[in-house]
Amino acid sequence: MPTHSAVVVIGAGPGGYVAAFHAADLGLSVTLIDKAQNPGGVCLYRGCIPSKALLHAAKLLTEAEEAKNIGIDFAQPMVNLDKLRAWKDWVVSKLTGGLGSLTKQRKITYVQGEAVFTGSSSLGIKKPDGLSDTLTFDKAILAAGSRPVELPFLPKSNRVWDSTSALSLPYIPQTLLIIGGGYIGMELGCAYSALGSKITVVEALPQLLNGADRDLADMVIRRLNKDFTKIMVNTKVLRAEETAEGITVWFADKDGKEFQETFAQVLASIGRKPNTEGLGLEHTKVKLSPKGFIEVDAQRRTTDANIFAIGDIAGQPMLAHKASAEAKIAAETIAGHKVAFEPKVIPAVVFTNPELAWVGLTEIEAKEKNLDVTVFKFPWAASGRALTLDRTDGITKVIADPKTKRILGIGIAGMNAGDLISEGALAIEMGAVADDLALTIHPHPTLSEMIMETAEGLFGHCTHIARAKKP
Ligand code: FAD
Repeated sequence: MPTHSAVVVIGAGPGGYVAAFHAADLGLSVTLIDKAQNPGGVCLYRGCIPSKALLHAAKLLTEAEEAKNIGIDFAQPMVNLDKLRAWKDWVVSKLTGGLGSLTKQRKITYVQGEAVFTGSSSLGIKKPDGLSDTLTFDKAILAAGSRPVELPFLPKSNRVWDSTSALSLPYIPQTLLIIGGGYIGMELGCAYSALGSKITVVEALPQLLNGADRDLADMVIRRLNKDFTKIMVNTKVLRAEETAEGITVWFADKDGKEFQETFAQVLASIGRKPNTEGLGLEHTKVKLSPKGFIEVDAQRRTTDANIFAIGDIAGQPMLAHKASAEAKIAAETIAGHKVAFEPKVIPAVVFTNPELAWVGLTEIEAKEKNLDVTVFKFPWAASGRALTLDRTDGITKVIADPKTKRILGIGIAGMNAGDLISEGALAIEMGAVADDLALTIHPHPTLSEMIMETAEGLFGHCTHIARAKKP
């Protein structure tokens, strides 16, 4: 291990490893430090990737069941949990091992250990074997990520999971209470529901999946209401206790009425917080924002000129693609390029069944900001492709400026919304107007055609909807 590195990157998630790879490609000597044996971070080891592997299994189970609607009857599927878990773990190790190889190929020094700042240009590294090392650096990129917020009143028990333990797939509980109606809880709920758990959701706010427009979120919630046993909103968890039968949980509804129920398993999924503790930041000039994230400028430089911060630790949205985009800006800035992190939009996706995705302005935001917008919605029942997939449970929505016709936002609820939304992100980044989307010939029959037709419908005629506005 070298004693000095031009660039050191702390944390090898989608922020850190992308920063390290980019800095190395730009000709800088790079040391990448992470607690794990290979790069990957939360996203690959215990986030995006394992959750999507389980959701793929869930999709197969659901589609096999629903095939009867079109005249195909499968026998009751048998889930081999050990094999499913092994496959999911294989996906993770395939990807993280691949990142390890890419690290070597780029001649990046990879150090497994826990880094702690001892100054604005020095680090100590605690290795897994108990030994320590020190490293000095010209520039550091801090990408130490985030971790689940804990509920202090939940008992310490195997019957209480966070997202990491739920993704390890220890068993399929008969009943599972999910505390928190955000995207992580709902995705895990979809996976465990398809695998056979009876799901109950409790959310303190009046609705699930906050942030998305209600008409789109409702499309997903309608399905969750069918697949899950119970969804309780405006309801607080007061306390919980382990009993012989499981975890007994006490709730209070919006009128303060208390009630209790016992679950085999509880999943706490109430949010994530940045990993700012234990990094030795007190030995640097790095400052935290009032919300507890590391304060950064447009280049992702912290208040310490030598230290950059990216990803979950540097602010919302806590998403892998935001971390990777920031990573490139930090690496390029260090390499002397004049760049800034100023995306027009960052897409958000919820990989439930159906999926929910949006980018740019939502109708809720337009209302809050009192913006004059025009909106057109295309119900998937009018799509040939949706019908052939037996998935008409969707809406595509385009929001535009009524004067300039510029696209301001796109939202999609429906199958594969997560893949479809990229066209919206590109449109907004390119400053597209409705005609750009409407006049771009989309292949038929596809779900993507609906973006074209929705854009058509904004200002004129829409082939498959008779009541579209006149030009
Ligand atoms: P992380 O991925 O959190 O990586 C940080 C790394 O730093 C970790 O490996 C950690 O061990 C290491 N580290 C911390 N401290 C130190 C230290 N002192 N020394 C050395 N190493 C250290 N996002 C999406 O965009 N799409 C999704 O579908 C999605 N699904 C998710 C599902 C779940 C269940 C969860 C939990 C998250 C999901 N996310 C998703 C969020 C996504 O995982 C994070 O936004 C992303 O991982 C953040 O990347 P990062 O590089 O900032 O940090």
